[in-house]
Amino acid sequence: MRARRLVALGLVGLVSVSLACTKVPITGRRQLNLIPAGIMNDLGASTYKSMLADENVAGSNNDNQEVIRRIGKHIAKAANRKRYDWRFNLIQDNQTLNAWCLPGGKIAVYTGILPVAKNEAGLAFIMGHEVGHATANHGAERLSQQLAVLGGMAALYLYLDAQTEMDTQQKEIIIAAVGVGAQGGVLLPFSRAHEKEADVIGMMYMARAGYPPEEAPKMWTRMENQTGGSLVPAFLSSHPSNDQRKANLREWMPRAKKRYNRSSKKHDTQQTMWKKSDFASSGGGGSKGSGKSSSKKTKSKSSGGKR
Ligand SMILES: [Zn+2]
Repeated sequence: MRARRLVALGLVGLVSVSLACTKVPITGRRQLNLIPAGIMNDLGASTYKSMLADENVAGSNNDNQEVIRRIGKHIAKAANRKRYDWRFNLIQDNQTLNAWCLPGGKIAVYTGILPVAKNEAGLAFIMGHEVGHATANHGAERLSQQLAVLGGMAALYLYLDAQTEMDTQQKEIIIAAVGVGAQGGVLLPFSRAHEKEADVIGMMYMARAGYPPEEAPKMWTRMENQTGGSLVPAFLSSHPSNDQRKANLREWMPRAKKRYNRSSKKHDTQQTMWKKSDFASSGGGGSKGSGKSSSKKTKSKSSGGKR
């Protein structure tokens, strides 16, 4: 125990000396970041493994899983992170309106959010938003704040223990710190500033990847309609209001459109259309487990992209 404490203290000294001031992509905001990227990526990888172990992950023959991976790869390319080891997984849980991305590019999308995403552009924005939290180091920034609050010890213990095996409580703290928080009743939402920043980054990533950015504010409208403004899903909790989000996105829209027009790729965003009825049955699995269902794929170019 004592040796460990000394190691932890040493690490505190190390990170304090090498006070890293990193720059957020797209917005260019400068942030104080005490946690080396390698540590965050390790935390992301080990947390991802333990979180997926508790979930009903769709098989690779699942049509929707395939779509999530395809969109994810486009967003990953737009995010351009050399040190990320990207993973994309669909979790079959129709009751959970959520998606997240752990540090290092470990992404999960719940089937519950697909009808709100509605189409591939909507999901590209959701995934871009979550990836934005990761590439903007929001988890590390928050963990840095906790490090300061806790005097460094607790958070570093977490890291040391993560190297071996995390117990439930440690796992929950990490999960909360990196912003997942939907499980286990632990919820430590990102700040409003982080949410708005992730929106902007997500919209720019989706535009760069060839998805029309106009779908971003529309997605928030659908989210609002879906939740009726009363029920607050994990994805939204303590987030800025939809009006604030849309105003923020409008501000960046001209730049996003420019990026979209410059992008050599343009995706048929209506290729996959998710409907609530596709996921009508509860019980997590939905009807997509076989990957053979064709009901969700609706080619509807004629119905137009604007709604
Ligand atoms: Zn967010």
